[in-house]
Amino acid sequence: MDKPKKQATKKVEPKKAGRKKVASTKVEPKKAAVKSINVRPVGKATAAEIAAKLVERYPDADCELDYETDFQLLIAVIMSAQSTDVTINKVTPKLFKDYGTPQKLAEADIEKIKRIIMPTGFFNAKAKNIQDCAQMIVTKYGGKVPTTREELITLPGVGRKTANVVLGVAHNIPGWTVDTHVQRLSKRLGFTRESDPYKIELDLEELFPPKKFDSTQLSITLIWHGRRCCFARKPDCINCPVNQLCPSSEVV
Ligand code: SF4
Repeated sequence: MDKPKKQATKKVEPKKAGRKKVASTKVEPKKAAVKSINVRPVGKATAAEIAAKLVERYPDADCELDYETDFQLLIAVIMSAQSTDVTINKVTPKLFKDYGTPQKLAEADIEKIKRIIMPTGFFNAKAKNIQDCAQMIVTKYGGKVPTTREELITLPGVGRKTANVVLGVAHNIPGWTVDTHVQRLSKRLGFTRESDPYKIELDLEELFPPKKFDSTQLSITLIWHGRRCCFARKPDCINCPVNQLCPSSEVV
């Protein structure tokens, strides 16, 4: 795939044909999930109402990383661990100008990669990961980013969350992106009591059936709400569009 466009804004309910089923074997959580007992779970009808209100609030919600190809998106997402999209977007123009293809990144001097991505933090490990990833794409996948979750998670630095972002945003294959925002909001909104990302994903799939909801777009919408309103330390409940539905609302 050469130049995937950023995903257009989508409605909550498009049916995605051929949606991949969750592959449960390789990603079973290693630790027992911790239950959150404080938040009242919501039912499907309330969950759907919350989703609709959030989509209405953020109709233009989209992936906030800058990229031009699925490979560049993959590299940006790998580097976004322990960093922010704003920081990643500051380093990727230079990185992708010099090493914007799997071949170029695979053959790059790793010290030059480190210097470019230093502001993102953990740059030694990230430089190794993105170069190893590029090398495997070249040697194992013929220079093309694979388009199945099972193949993507074999790449260095790529877990289920990263694979789902690439599939959903670049290839329109829906999947939940259970990052720190989606974890926090899913608990606060009563979508789950789990703490393990994979178990949260299963709860979200149960609450938002893939035939009725676009999990990629809902993930991005939750991430936008987490960044703009439902902050980790001090959620802005007064200005939240779902404060009459959310079981964690501080608005009485
Ligand atoms: S009401 Fe408050 S806790 Fe609930 S989603 Fe909105 S901001 Fe977050």
